[in-house]
Amino acid sequence: MSESESSCEVLVIGGGPAGSTIATLLAQQGRDVLMLEKAKHPRFHIGESLLPMNMPLFEQLGVAEEVKRIGMVKLGAEFVSPWHDAPVIIDFNDALDNTYPSAYQVRRDEFDEILFKNAANKGARVIEECKVTDIKFQPGAEALVDAMGKDGQKQRIRARFVVDASGRDTFLSNHFQMKHRNKKHNSAAIFGHFSGAKRLEGDIEGNISLFWFDHGWFWFIPLADGNTSIGATCWPYYMKTRKTDTTQFLLDTIAMCPALAERLKDAKLVSPVTATGNFSYLSERSSGENYILLGDAFAFIDPVFSSGVFLAMQSAFTGAETVEQCLSKPREAERALKEFDKVMMQGPTVFSWFIYRITTPAMRNLLMYKGTESRVKRALISVLIGDVYRTNRYGFWLFMFKVMYYGLSLANLKASIMAWRKRKRSIRVVEMGVTG
Ligand SMILES: Cc1cc2nc3c(=O)[nH]c(=O)nc-3n(C[C@H](O)[C@H](O)[C@H](O)COP(=O)(O)OP(=O)(O)OC[C@H]3O[C@@H](n4cnc5c(N)ncnc54)[C@H](O)[C@@H]3O)c2cc1C
Repeated sequence: MSESESSCEVLVIGGGPAGSTIATLLAQQGRDVLMLEKAKHPRFHIGESLLPMNMPLFEQLGVAEEVKRIGMVKLGAEFVSPWHDAPVIIDFNDALDNTYPSAYQVRRDEFDEILFKNAANKGARVIEECKVTDIKFQPGAEALVDAMGKDGQKQRIRARFVVDASGRDTFLSNHFQMKHRNKKHNSAAIFGHFSGAKRLEGDIEGNISLFWFDHGWFWFIPLADGNTSIGATCWPYYMKTRKTDTTQFLLDTIAMCPALAERLKDAKLVSPVTATGNFSYLSERSSGENYILLGDAFAFIDPVFSSGVFLAMQSAFTGAETVEQCLSKPREAERALKEFDKVMMQGPTVFSWFIYRITTPAMRNLLMYKGTESRVKRALISVLIGDVYRTNRYGFWLFMFKVMYYGLSLANLKASIMAWRKRKRSIRVVEMGVTG
């Protein structure tokens, strides 16, 4: 076991979408960036459905063509509800601003590797199989970061600025003991890949489908390799009822949703099944002197709107500007970090209003409403494509959507109250006994 010392301007913890994006941008600006990733790419990761607003970010990073090569084109989303007669398909082209009317479904092992290699190609120093183990911040001086490489090799790195992009490991949030469970939400998931699933036909083959069922909802994500990612996002109490192994539990859960079971009747499970829980949390702050938190390292709520990768990458774009300002104009750092915090809260705040209500009858009725001519519906689709940083442009229509939601809730008061009561009971904490 040997120990080596080195230094860099910016140290990035974690080489997922957030880490690779900020490493690329800062290296392109001439910063000396070192990114440490504990795993080795390509590695499995959940989170395969992207949003149209990811597309301009790919263009700016110079990876649009590579992502296109591995991606399955996604033109919209299908919603399937056992409480409604027929499924509804939402077309991203109906967003108020439809400059980016499509996105991709991707295998994350391939996608994350593209972004990671891009960071190296653009000048960032990257090391895989190297886990950050400890950190010491010193007021007015460089941070001291300890990492452990392959074969137990220890490293000490001096960094002027630290970016935490460690995802759900939430390295800095744990370090400062500032990670809090989301009291308004709680869910768990179980998922795997299937071959032979019956997809939608024609140019909407790549759409994501969402199936509601009694204990939550399922995702159906068609991938370019022919397999389909299937996952159930359920209330924790339901996961707790598991008496069988995870594979059987997933199959039994699918059987509870006849519309999905029908689409999978000739399908075969081709991957291990993974279960994960306790993924709804928020850190107390997104930055401090000489550090910021990006993507899942800061917060995660729920995968229902496929927003995680987009929010992670967008936080990296804002983060790159912030780090640059902190390093080049230290006197303006405080103001820059405050601004950064505002942006970090914006995306989760917009999405969470919808996420917390996704299992209520009023929200289901609005999502299952077929017409797309109204600006109110188009405002909803604008949120679904990830256009959440410019909501001031269509704030009135979003407001009207909320008015309609509350109006519908009042009109069906008894059902709404029952749904809220059920939700309140369902988000209670239970010991999961599953890993993530
Ligand atoms: C069940 C489920 C389904 C989801 N579905 C979707 C979806 O369909 N679409 C979507 O956009 N999002 C989805 N998400 C969310 C998405 O997975 C994340 O939001 C996204 O991956 C966040 O990117 P990130 O770069 O912040 O973190 P990550 O992608 O998790 O990357 C963090 C990286 O840091 C590394 N790391 C961690 N700790 C250390 C350390 N100490 N030292 C060095 N490296 C370290 C990890 O190995 C990892 O590579 C889903 C999430 C869940 C839980």
